[in-house]
Amino acid sequence: MTLTVSINNDRRLQLAPLQIPTRLLLGPGPSNAHPAVLQAMNTPPVGHLDPAFLALMDEIQTLLRYVWQTENSHTIAVSGTGTAAMEATIANSVEPGDVVLVGVMGYFGNRLVDMAGRYGADVRSISKPWGEVFSLDELRTAMATHRPAILALVHAETSTGARQPLEGVGDLCREFNCLLLVDTVTSLGGVPIFLDEWGVDLAYSCSQKGLGCPPGASPFTMSPRAAEKLQQRRHKVANWYLDMTLLSKYWGSDRIYHHTAPINLYYALREALRLIAEEGLENCWQRHQKNAEYLWQGLEDLELTLHVPREFRLPTLTTVRIPEGVDGKAISRQLLSEYNIEIGGGLGELAGKVWRVGLMGFNSRPESVDRLLEVLRQVLP
Ligand code: PLP
Repeated sequence: MTLTVSINNDRRLQLAPLQIPTRLLLGPGPSNAHPAVLQAMNTPPVGHLDPAFLALMDEIQTLLRYVWQTENSHTIAVSGTGTAAMEATIANSVEPGDVVLVGVMGYFGNRLVDMAGRYGADVRSISKPWGEVFSLDELRTAMATHRPAILALVHAETSTGARQPLEGVGDLCREFNCLLLVDTVTSLGGVPIFLDEWGVDLAYSCSQKGLGCPPGASPFTMSPRAAEKLQQRRHKVANWYLDMTLLSKYWGSDRIYHHTAPINLYYALREALRLIAEEGLENCWQRHQKNAEYLWQGLEDLELTLHVPREFRLPTLTTVRIPEGVDGKAISRQLLSEYNIEIGGGLGELAGKVWRVGLMGFNSRPESVDRLLEVLRQVLP
């Protein structure tokens, strides 16, 4: 081979093989993946249309229906993180001019507002102080005022640690002939969810939290009502990659190439879901609740205050108020650099005011709680 242009070697780094510290990930996500999931991820890839891989995709769809408790045929994993699955719900359901009402009670509600606006929605929002949730009456009043085509809510607001109750909201949406779109990124696998029972029409999640998998393959589901809206669109979905009319030809019986699936991530997701099915959904939710309560007790014993009232507190993510006079960022940095433990800081309204502690998926274990409390006892003044 004769090159007519010489290669610039300025950026030819001579690196040692990858070395990353082992951390205990007790922040808002990602959480540590289950070792069996990492092992499954190491399986050599096959092609994205290989019969073995297509069978695995079917298993993922069935198991996603199980963890979400839905019969929705349009239930897939989007190749991308939770935000891609979030965008898939918006892109497929919103047409320019649609009124989208977003309940904002934290950072991720604001992301929904921004995203829906980019797809041409007439976005209306209602908001709550960070750490609080909407009552059914408040939602009813807002629905009557705005008459939206879509109501979007965050079930588990990771920025605050609050759980938005969803019982009755689906009925409300049917009364107002509106679709219900729900973010379950920090609830799937760790918090009871009954999508069909609650009348949820569009939902999305991620792999790296309650499912105990690395990030990158994100659950998406759409009810028959939402699928009908998609079929009757006046405009094409304004996002080629996330258009369910195209994606469902790959995930459904046609098996037509759409994109090259991240094969190994799907291996990981399949294993993560298999482990939940083995444990049983109810046991899995109970484990998350039990370990969260153990953490809450330990934090209160350290005289720390929890930000969200117990009734609405997420078992997957706990916000802890930083005590007066304590440098919250310095403590988080110390936990990471000296003890290899990651916890999160506050976002938006809660920046500098709280730490965020996640107990999700594989990390929802008494050992994680014991380790964190032991270290906090050492570092807190
Ligand atoms: N929604 C919520 C509630 C989240 O907590 C997150 C991420 O933490 C997202 C959406 C976005 O997911 P990702 O960061 O995987 O894109």
